[in-house]
Amino acid sequence: MDLPRSFTIRESSHRIHNPFTSDKLAALGQALDLAPGTRALDLASGSGEMLCTWARDHRITGTGVDISTEFTARARARAAELGVAEQVTFVHGDACGHVADEPVDLAACIGATWIGDGVAGTVALLQRSLRPGGTMLIGEPYWRHEPPDQETVEACHAAARDDFRPLPELIEQFGALGYDVVEMVLADQDSWDRYRAAQWLNIRRWLDRNPDDELAAELRAELSADPARYAKYEREHLGWGVFALMSR
Ligand code: SAH
Repeated sequence: MDLPRSFTIRESSHRIHNPFTSDKLAALGQALDLAPGTRALDLASGSGEMLCTWARDHRITGTGVDISTEFTARARARAAELGVAEQVTFVHGDACGHVADEPVDLAACIGATWIGDGVAGTVALLQRSLRPGGTMLIGEPYWRHEPPDQETVEACHAAARDDFRPLPELIEQFGALGYDVVEMVLADQDSWDRYRAAQWLNIRRWLDRNPDDELAAELRAELSADPARYAKYEREHLGWGVFALMSR
């Protein structure tokens, strides 16, 4: 049970595995006005940057669950580096169906709503860990511009147009599920570049060091094609944001 190796190569330098910069992550933490001692659960916590920096900056505590052994190890190292290892715990495991032992104040899934089979299922999953009146965070893509064709849809990592919604419809979906949207911080094209363009340098450096690796041909082909493909499709059409929700 682990994340395919190509992911950890592509995102080897990333602390945030999403189109957020550290500034945007900090802005979200500030926007939420987190009280010291806030208890958080982060499903698909990646390299743990959200819990670790918010533990440092807002003195929250929390647990992250992620299926990647490498990202989980990095998250533990980051907690030690920031001096918050007493406040945060990172568990290697499958977050599908994961429910906290004790209800938490803040339950998050940032950029991994497939763990609940989509937005609605992930909201329902997180709700099971949340105390009454708690806050939920969902990180999710949306269409900045309607995709004109199936080629664009697939280049944005969707199978069908309806896999994502335009921003107003995504917000309406949270309402229809019974939640107030109480905050949001959105990616922009520059923060998308920090996520996606940073992958190219990681791949190039890895290729230079590992020309004979079994993944080399696949990653070489990706590096040759991805920058133009990203500029043409994903950078223009795909938005991304984190939405803070409270049950009505
Ligand atoms: N929330 C983090 C990571 C987002 S990337 C951040 O914003 O930086 C998506 C993450 O989902 C990866 O770390 C991957 O390892 C994790 N993941 C994928 N499937 C998972 C599953 N079934 N259970 C737990 N984590 C999973």
